[in-house]
Amino acid sequence: MSDQSAVVKAAPKGIYVAGEWRDASGGGSFAVEDPGTGKPLCEVADGQADDARSALDAAVDAQADWAATPPRERAEILRRAWQLMTDRADDLALLMTLEMGKSRAESKSEVTYAAEFFRWFSEEAVRIEGRYAQNPAGGSRLLTMKQPVGPCLLITPWNFPLAMGTRKIGPAIAAGCTMIVKPAQLTPLSMLQLTDVLAEAGLPPGVLNVVPSSSAAKTVGPLMSDPRLRKVSFTGSTPVGKSLMEQASKNLLRVSMELGGNAPFLVFGDADIDAAVEGAVVAKMRNNGESCVAANRFHVAGEVAVEFTARLAERLGAMKVGHGAEEGTQVGPLIDADQRDKVGELVDDAVGKGARVVTGGSAVEGDGYFFTPTVLSNVPREARILTEEVFGPVAPVTAFGSEEEALALANNTEFGLVAYVFTQDLRRALRVAEGLQTGMVGLNTGLVSNAAAPFGGVKASGFGREGGTEGIEEYLSTKYVAVSLS
Ligand code: ADP
Repeated sequence: MSDQSAVVKAAPKGIYVAGEWRDASGGGSFAVEDPGTGKPLCEVADGQADDARSALDAAVDAQADWAATPPRERAEILRRAWQLMTDRADDLALLMTLEMGKSRAESKSEVTYAAEFFRWFSEEAVRIEGRYAQNPAGGSRLLTMKQPVGPCLLITPWNFPLAMGTRKIGPAIAAGCTMIVKPAQLTPLSMLQLTDVLAEAGLPPGVLNVVPSSSAAKTVGPLMSDPRLRKVSFTGSTPVGKSLMEQASKNLLRVSMELGGNAPFLVFGDADIDAAVEGAVVAKMRNNGESCVAANRFHVAGEVAVEFTARLAERLGAMKVGHGAEEGTQVGPLIDADQRDKVGELVDDAVGKGARVVTGGSAVEGDGYFFTPTVLSNVPREARILTEEVFGPVAPVTAFGSEEEALALANNTEFGLVAYVFTQDLRRALRVAEGLQTGMVGLNTGLVSNAAAPFGGVKASGFGREGGTEGIEEYLSTKYVAVSLS
């Protein structure tokens, strides 16, 4: 307990502008809750539109010097921040568990994953290149250079409180952009703690400004029409993403959108079933299913559906549910009562339409927002759970006949973030990977997230890529200089 109160006490609770912590204008605050107990952890400054404007003022003031800072210096700051996060992983993980719910082991892997974006982009910062070419007609030369896009607004969700931030902050720092971060209301503490880490790593004042708030639209909305802002990068729900796109159009902002998913998990008759079950546990249960890349629906070849379902149910049914900070917990609570109730509603809808509960199926009574890991079989096509993002530990299984049918089922969604495919047939694997309307495919694996790879979607899952060599491009503009030699 003392560890727990110590990490909460140590975390900053204010608004961070121009290198200083301050109270919200008006002095208000909002409560951050532990979803494992339903009880408040602490109060955090409730940023207002005035605070967001001060944050943009600071970002604008810092932009020119930051863009002129040698790439190697920007890289070293990121590298030091990676080291500090690695050294402090236990405390960062505990803080994350307390505000978000996931088990300490899962929080620890998120800290590693989140820090990895800093290490990766420290290596990218020194590889921002242009080109010098001959005019095909001869005579003149064509010179291109990459420059930072300018001050950015970065809006992050609650499900990965650090990693969704570092995959934006890392490339922005590497590219030479300044920024305002608006962390999720439900989980601001990890981001506030990270802010201190970046300051300690040597990030100059004004480069990163952080404005927690309980009223996102009112607080950051005015920034969207301020011509000094040049980019918005958002991770969250598709409706909010669409609204931000509309606002961004008025100011013609550069936009990156990482929105909802509805990932299909395809198991073909020729799959290695051990690998498919293992992959399914990861794709479904990582982050308790509260992930845009979580497998949302399992489409399994008829000949292996019974075996796959039974083995998946055995694995999920054996997982230990509990407070994320307790030793041995594998499945923590959902983020809040609304999320727990929505998961219950989708399960009830499927069961009402004829699905069978193989394991789990209900919320856990008592404090906190727990839901038992659940496997549903014989899920009818009209069940809402097959088309809506469940964001919880529920695996609905349906059987398919042919490869064409599997692909059609997989693509039958407005979303297009990721799909998982299990098959041992190389030709089928590539055929299906090419046919899937998604930005990412997990081929015989349930985990695609990797700082070195381009993460992102198509269709209603958004556009833009985070991580990989693509990630920094989101924060760079290309300038072309026509050079006359005569
Ligand atoms: P989720 O369902 O994951 O909470 P949201 O899209 O509601 O997803 O929220 C993701 C992030 O976007 C959070 O930081 C939230 O505060 C912020 N947000 C929500 N609505 C708006 C808005 N209208 N303008 C700007 N940010 C918003």
